[in-house]
Amino acid sequence: MTRPDVGRIDGLTYPPGTAFMAGQYLPMSEARISVLDWGLLHSDVTYDTVHVWNGRFFRLDLHIARFRRSLEKLRLRVAYDDDALRDILVECVRRSGLRNAYVEMLCTRGLSPTFSRDPRDAANQFVAFAVPYGSVANARQLKEGLHLHLIDTVRRIPPESVDPQIKNYHWLDLVTAQFQGFDAGAETVVIKDMDGNVAEGPGFNIFAVKEGALYTPERGVLHGITRRTVFDIAERLGIEVHAGNVSEAQLRHADEIFITSTAGGIMPVTRLNDVAVGDGMPGELTRTIFRTYWDWHDDPAWTLAVDYDGADRVR
Ligand SMILES: *Cc1c(COP(=O)(O)O)cnc(C)c1O
Repeated sequence: MTRPDVGRIDGLTYPPGTAFMAGQYLPMSEARISVLDWGLLHSDVTYDTVHVWNGRFFRLDLHIARFRRSLEKLRLRVAYDDDALRDILVECVRRSGLRNAYVEMLCTRGLSPTFSRDPRDAANQFVAFAVPYGSVANARQLKEGLHLHLIDTVRRIPPESVDPQIKNYHWLDLVTAQFQGFDAGAETVVIKDMDGNVAEGPGFNIFAVKEGALYTPERGVLHGITRRTVFDIAERLGIEVHAGNVSEAQLRHADEIFITSTAGGIMPVTRLNDVAVGDGMPGELTRTIFRTYWDWHDDPAWTLAVDYDGADRVR
């Protein structure tokens, strides 16, 4: 049997990296699931993402705990305990050799061997992978700030329909808004909830700064680990935080705006719907939080180092 070229298969190019599925480590190009998997056909799947920066996982325990809660709510079963999950993720990164990595764990409903339509008959499928680190914002946007549009015509799926604390791929609201934003010249977007309050964007939470205090939506949004880290930084630095309803007016009158995600960290927003935020430069408080966030990535209290030279721990 010939091995396909790593990174290229069936005319498609894949990023470098290492995946784990069905008990085996594979190059990304070989990690593929069936088109019959309900994860694809019904978006019946949950996931979590964590990043590795300079060879260290950031707050991996919190990501594994959130993944575990999502699995339980969806009644998905993964055969690994928390320590085994951690070892698999570390091993994906170790084998990939990536010092800065985007690491994902997911579990799909899978498919039923008898093709029954009963989700209880499905064999759940766990997949993990490490690929090069990716960010919502590119280098220029991190320095100068993102150009964000608040989109009013598409509303976030309400929490009564899909529990936003289950990290999920129900993104048609977010993707539809993204295309509307691109048409209007935006670099990224946030959408509102059904009550007209500010919700979140494609894979990130949002914060407004007003007179030295932070304001961020609480209901109907995923409680991001980066958002949580901003709370921890704010506590350390003595900054006031209000998690609750954030109105469109509050966002439009903010002194500073930033967005938060594992994919990018703390990202300044300097234009909102074509109007400059504050003086049009990343704000003072945003920059302080940004610096502290990345400083904490070197701190053993918040991180787990990957031993790249270590022997294979998981087979
Ligand atoms: C992942 C995600 C976020 C950000 O969460 P982090 O844990 O900070 O990466 C925000 N909103 C949605 C919808 C997400 O999927």
